[in-house]
Amino acid sequence: MPRLSTEQLSMEWGALNQRFSAHSRVFILDFCQRHAQPLAEHFYQQMLQDPGASPFLSHDQVSSRLHSSMQRWVAGLFAPQTHEDLLRIIAEQQKIGEVHARIDIPVHLVLRGARAMKVEFIRLLLADGRLCGDEYLEVARLMSDTIDLAMEVMSQAYASSHDRNSRTEEAYRLFSVTQNIASEKERQRGALLDWENQLMFGLATGLSIAQLPRIRTCEFGVWFRHKGAHAFEGTPEASQIIHGMVQIDDVLLPLFAEEWRDRVPQLREMRDLVSTIRFNLDHLFEQNSELEAGRDVLTRLLNRKFLPVVLSKQITYARNHGAEFAVLVLDIDHFKRINDGYGHEAGDRVLQQLAALLVNNSRAGDYLFRLGGEEFLMLLVDTGLNGARRAAEKLRASVEREVFRLPQEQTLSVTMSIGLACFDGHPDYQQMMRRADEALYKAKEGGRNQVVQAI
Ligand code: GH3
Ligand code: MG
Ligand code: MG
Repeated sequence: MPRLSTEQLSMEWGALNQRFSAHSRVFILDFCQRHAQPLAEHFYQQMLQDPGASPFLSHDQVSSRLHSSMQRWVAGLFAPQTHEDLLRIIAEQQKIGEVHARIDIPVHLVLRGARAMKVEFIRLLLADGRLCGDEYLEVARLMSDTIDLAMEVMSQAYASSHDRNSRTEEAYRLFSVTQNIASEKERQRGALLDWENQLMFGLATGLSIAQLPRIRTCEFGVWFRHKGAHAFEGTPEASQIIHGMVQIDDVLLPLFAEEWRDRVPQLREMRDLVSTIRFNLDHLFEQNSELEAGRDVLTRLLNRKFLPVVLSKQITYARNHGAEFAVLVLDIDHFKRINDGYGHEAGDRVLQQLAALLVNNSRAGDYLFRLGGEEFLMLLVDTGLNGARRAAEKLRASVEREVFRLPQEQTLSVTMSIGLACFDGHPDYQQMMRRADEALYKAKEGGRNQVVQAI
């Protein structure tokens, strides 16, 4: 479903306001400003008691920030509402929805929070006692309708952000399935050939039909049905391969039971079907080498587009298992001078050699990304502060020692600054990235060629 544009949403919001008297709107604004703090307090207390919600809220920073941002949120909903105000308020709800999607808060918990808020609002309104009868009803409706609309805007942003995240996640999954595309191709070609040989041998030695190896259950068939068909879903080649396998197992093989038949045409047909499968398979692998687009072309490290997926997964894992991990953001010092002094091609060589050095200095479980330009990220799994510091310092020193080889036999020394951040329990990965970036900035400020640890 197409989402409503911000313009449409602001018109709806404006129309909502028009349905209520100026008196009610002035009242509620004043009321919210006065009661924002107890409302936020109540919301937080309620949600902490919810076992589903508390893991998202128990982090120190979340609690202190959420407290003040809840207060601002409540007061902001009813602030004077010109067209510009409405656009800003809507953008704010959308941003909240996106944060919820990023940290993967279930939508029902957000709605539950809104409901708790409304209940408390009504309780405070009644206790306030300044309004009676119709006035009270009108203010209560204005409050309720406004919170509902805010939730609607939030959910819309949540949903599309969530879809986007799932798509990247899916792409990453495919990418990891077919990570070694060249070796997978050879392996599957070999498995197909093995099956064909076994079948021919079986036929030559007079095995019964039931004993003949089926293509669907041979190594290639199993791989294709579970992984290949999934990775190459929707392509004509994949459907043809599936169709070819069904033909072979269900149509051709049973014909060999009919002793009176001339086997030669059947064998020819079988060979044709198998070579069509092989042809389609080669084609799929060739066409889909862009599945490797998950890697940066120059350095072969992971592309930054997968960073959100990998970081979110790590955070979920760490939160569920009480595990540690750290990120290092690495940036080459004065890289521009290398480009300026030796040319862009020399710069590229340095980036490649540095990437190789990073790979050699990382463990198989770690992740290496090229964030862009001359900036890299290393994610160290199962690593706490001391381990991360040691690893960062070791990297820094190896880069300093490394002799970088340029075209035309020239050599060069390079240094690198590193910002280090350990996972601190915060559910939003952008928060961790910000801390690492700030640390890197300090390393540059502090004179480069050094490791700085984030606070
Ligand atoms: P600092 O120590 O502050 O990091 O200085 P710097 O010169 O390394 O940083 P700055 O961000 O000013 O410059 C980065 C340069 O990296 C600018 C850009 O031309 C160059 N660059 C970015 N991507 C590539 C690339 O793929 N290949 C090459 N050769 N250069 C690149
Ligand atoms: Mg740099
Ligand atoms: Mg840079």
